[in-house]
Amino acid sequence: MRGRAAEMRPVGGPLVCETRGVPIALLVLALAALAAAAVLATALRRASSAAAAAAGRAAVAARAAEDAERRRCATFQDLPFTALRVDASGRLAEANLHALERFPFLVAGMTVLEAFSEHRFAERVEAALASLEREAFELRLFAAGRRTYRVSVAPYEVGGEPEAIVFLTDASDAADYRELRSQFVANVSHELRTPLTGLRGLLEALGDPQMDAATHTDFVRRATSETLRLEALVTDILFLSELESTSGLPASSRTDLAAAVAETVHELSAVAGEHGAVLSMELGEDVHVQLTERMARMVVRNLVENAIKYAGPGATTRTSVRREDDTVVLTVADDGSGIPERDLPHVFERFYRADPSRSKRLGGTGLGLSIVKHIAERFGGEAVATSREGFGTTVTVSIPASPGPGGGTPDAPAAP
Ligand code: ADP
Repeated sequence: MRGRAAEMRPVGGPLVCETRGVPIALLVLALAALAAAAVLATALRRASSAAAAAAGRAAVAARAAEDAERRRCATFQDLPFTALRVDASGRLAEANLHALERFPFLVAGMTVLEAFSEHRFAERVEAALASLEREAFELRLFAAGRRTYRVSVAPYEVGGEPEAIVFLTDASDAADYRELRSQFVANVSHELRTPLTGLRGLLEALGDPQMDAATHTDFVRRATSETLRLEALVTDILFLSELESTSGLPASSRTDLAAAVAETVHELSAVAGEHGAVLSMELGEDVHVQLTERMARMVVRNLVENAIKYAGPGATTRTSVRREDDTVVLTVADDGSGIPERDLPHVFERFYRADPSRSKRLGGTGLGLSIVKHIAERFGGEAVATSREGFGTTVTVSIPASPGPGGGTPDAPAAP
């Protein structure tokens, strides 16, 4: 499809006069005729120069119209989003380059319905053409992948006929984000409701004066554990939302990951003992990363705690941190029960638990690995898990090494 090109040509041309020899009688007539011809010639010259001036003006107007059309065409074609021109009958008259890249099947003369197989889209375009009022709406199109578009239909009149320019901007990322957010809110509500309901039941039961001492002690222990789980959940959710609400790297952070591993493993040694787990570590040198100390400890703690909780009694967990070229690699490997193959691809998802009842019983929030991944990716790294049921799990976090003291990004906003 091409832009309309107004085509006008200048008109007009030179006038030609001729003279010949004749008798006296005729000479008077001839002189009179000559005089008349001269008058006529003057009139014709005037008319001719008026015509030439008019033709000149027309040529200038035509050139201006062509320039305006060329300018309109170039602007329309290069718009960085899909733009379509639709005629009075709702058929496509023009599509810009972006439109043809995104929807290569578009052909001039197609109706909006034929082009996009979406009744609501066709109806809104027809409504705009009929009322000459702008329409704006959001639409999910399946025509070229499943994407959400913000559509704006701008109608106008040309020679008494309505036309419209239809703009489509891809709003899929914003729509996906909204969906993710509402899913997250639903998940959080569900996760909070479960321990709260349990807690209420336990507290109601504890109000029974007939309850024997052993049951009383057991119920208080369970209520305390539900409260701790609630607290852990709220802490993780707040941490995640803090992470998401800041962007960029934290101001000039430089943390020694080896120190974070040593301190965390030391802190967890008592819990490991309770679970019958054995912890060991291997600390390399020059393993500074741009994480804040809190983030570094959060990553290590989540991974080592998981190994203690899920690997099972008697399992050994080896935590190592080493430098590989420009990357610092943290590995937490256990020789425990492993993660079933069907669950492995999902363990980094929020609230995903391979064994929900076990995770909840052990105070898990289902957010630990998603926080680890989030932090790693925020710093240009990655988190990967490999596992074999019955043989153990290895989680590897690779993060670019810190460029050196003072090598952070001082202007970046602070992060948790
Ligand atoms: P949680 O708070 O439940 O521990 P995570 O996001 O940290 O949540 O982990 C997700 C799930 O992955 C856990 O519920 C558990 O089923 C599984 N998992 C994580 N680490 C290990 C491990 N070392 N061994 C076995 N299973 C693990």
